[in-house]
Parts: sequence; structure tokens; C-alpha cells
Amino acid sequence: MKPITLADVQALDAADPLAHKRAEFDLPAAVIYLDGNSLGCLPKAVRTRVADVIDQQWGSDLIKSWNIHRWIDLPVLTGEKIARLIGAAPGQVISCDSISVNLFKLLSAALGLQRGRSVVLSQQDNFPTDLYMVQGMSELLGSQRCQLVTVSSDELENQLTEDVAVLMLTHVNFRSGYIHDMQRLTELAHNKGILVIWDLAHSAGVLPLQLDQCQVDFAVGCTYKYLNAGPGAPAFLYVASRHLPTVTQALSGWMGHVSPFKFSTDYEGALGIEKFLTGTPPVISMSALDAALDVFNDVDMQQVRRKSRQLTELFIALATQTSALAPLSLASPADADQRGAQLAWRHPHAYAICQALIADGVIGDFRAPDILRFGFSPLTLRYEDIWNSVQRLARILETGRWQAPEFSQTSRVT
Ligand SMILES: *Cc1c(COP(=O)(O)O)cnc(C)c1O
Repeated sequence: MKPITLADVQALDAADPLAHKRAEFDLPAAVIYLDGNSLGCLPKAVRTRVADVIDQQWGSDLIKSWNIHRWIDLPVLTGEKIARLIGAAPGQVISCDSISVNLFKLLSAALGLQRGRSVVLSQQDNFPTDLYMVQGMSELLGSQRCQLVTVSSDELENQLTEDVAVLMLTHVNFRSGYIHDMQRLTELAHNKGILVIWDLAHSAGVLPLQLDQCQVDFAVGCTYKYLNAGPGAPAFLYVASRHLPTVTQALSGWMGHVSPFKFSTDYEGALGIEKFLTGTPPVISMSALDAALDVFNDVDMQQVRRKSRQLTELFIALATQTSALAPLSLASPADADQRGAQLAWRHPHAYAICQALIADGVIGDFRAPDILRFGFSPLTLRYEDIWNSVQRLARILETGRWQAPEFSQTSRVT
């Protein structure tokens, strides 16, 4: 096959229908950012919005802002903007808390609908917090009400039996990028009377999703990854409208009350998705989320998907034609249809290589024990960035520069 040239790559940029989106972000100069799957870049609109929330809304309008700037409506308003991106009709998505806390609420809701069944089935290599939350729920309720069973990805379908209450999976694996077939697994689970919770952490904002069409029961996701809402921005949750009248959730705080400002002493949950709120929304970061979501107003998620596929395919093709990258082995599915917008590469010294690459201006991340992980955010990356990343990675491997002692020092966050 003819090797890919820089001119080929530049032609991809020239024809990219999403190229103009990059200008809507504040990007650090001289950095190639391949970590938008961990913390998305800063949209310019967020900077302006947060300044206004601080100076005008909080600084001047103070408590009046709950009404006049609709602070109180932010969980629902941002939830509806997310709903559009994940294939959910109105009234089923709300922003609040973190994925971990929202999983607790959804687990309690789902288990409440499944009296007589106790197993929560998940995958061994799921993101740890997802598993930890089931372990905590099991401690609280006892194993006769909640019991975590984990299996490998290949065994999942065989384990969908009638003692399973809930199937809880992450749609795109955080390490490998492998995408589960949401439609198929949801349907197989439903055939056995199992409710399904999907974690969309690595899907929302980068893959076209059809939650309603797949008849998903519950879902969670975060907004600081591909949705670019900023560090620690609130997560979201989805509850199918058919469950809303009957579900209850354990974290029954006042914001989920049918009328919080009546200050009644007895809890009575709201009728709609608001019953999944607990406490006061974090207004500053939720305003950032609201502004960040507007970046998606004119974005076609199919185009985003096409570009993320092409970005990962380009990286793999360049890695294949660059002999210095031979020591890296692909730990993501080779078939682009089966992987999300990220690539994982195995190397015994992945940590040091990652640090050397960061020092060279290419930011990826390391995932224990031996994975070098790159995320490909289609709204901020150019194809030429991929070319340059592979070049720099090749130089680091050729020269062995990653062996310098400073690249082996570890920090708390990797
Ligand atoms: C990033 C991520 C989380 C983060 O959970 P928080 O509680 O919001 O910190 C959870 N699950 C998965 C699969 C993730 O990738």
C-alpha cells in the first residue's frame, strides 16, 4: 500500500466538515491534546458565561438569580440539551451529581422495581467506580437484595439469566474503547426480565446514541469528557418515561421533592425526572455545562462519528507505516465499527513514554498497568495533529528518550 503523506493528511483537513468547530474552543498553543476523553477542552462560550455568572448573576443579582437567571431550572434545561444528543425524548434526562452518585440512585431505583431478584451483572473490566457503587449498595441492602456478579465481556450474554435484576454496563470500555451493542444487549436482557443501566461516559458527545429506540431503562454519563463542560462538571442521568411513575430513588433530598419550597416534613417525590435530584445544583459548573452544550447546536452526531473513526484509522495507519512504533501493540478493536473515539496501545513502559510525549507537547494518558491511551475529540482535533503526534511518538521511541529518570516519576493523577 502507498504510504500516507503529509499532503494526504492536509487534504483530509481541507475537506473536513467539522473543521470550523475548532475555532469555538480556547486551545493552548503548541499542544496537541489527545485527552478530550478525560477532560474536554474549554469552549470560549463557557469562559464568557462563567464570567457573567460570577460578576453579574452572583455578584450583583444574588439570590434573585434563582428565578431571573433560571438557576433553579438548570438541571432540566441542561438535561434536555443532552437528551437531544443521546436519542431521548423530553422529560427523561436531568443533570446532577456525579456518575457514581447517580449510579447509586439508579441502582436503588432498578432494584426497587425488581423484587425477588438480587444479582447486578457487570463486567470485570468495567470502570472501577461503577463496580464500587454496587459493592456499597450490597453492603447497605445485604446480599439477598443486591449482589454483584462480574464476568468477562464474552460471557455476558450467557449470564443473562432469570435471577439477574440489573445488567449494568459501560457502553464504550474506558481502556480499550470497545463498544457494546446497546440494542442487542438491552433486548436480550429484557427477554429475561432484566433491567439495564448503561454508563455513557465515553459515548455521550462523541457517538450517535438512540436510548429511546433501544428501549434502554436507565443511563448515566458525565459531561467533563466529550461534552467539554469542565473539571468536575455535573453528570447526567436518564430514566425511561415508562418507569418514571413507579420508580423511587433512595437519595430523597429536597430538590427531588414535588414542591421543595413548601418545606413539608414528609418526602413526596416529584412526578417526573426531577425526582432524581437530591440537593442544590452546583450553579457555576452547571452554567458552564449549559454553555458547553450549545457548541453541539449545529453539530450532526453522524459527522462526529465519521470523523472520530477517520482520526483513529489515520493514527493506526500511520503507526503501521512507522517502524519506530512497532513495539506498541494495539489493545483496541482493530475494526473501527467496534471501537469508540479512543485508542489504547500496550507497552511495558507506557507510563514513561506517556510522560515523555507530554513533555513534547502531545497530551495523552496512561491507564494502569501498561496502556498508553489517546482520545480523539472530533471537534478540536485536526488530522494534521495526528500526523504530528505519530512523528513525535516515533522520535521518543527511536531515541529512547523516555528512559530519562524524570519520566518515571509518578503523580497522584495519571
Ligand atoms: C469517567 C468515568 C466515570 C466517572 O465517574 P464520576 O463519579 O463522575 O467521577 C464513571 N464511569 C466511567 C465508565 C467513566 O469513564
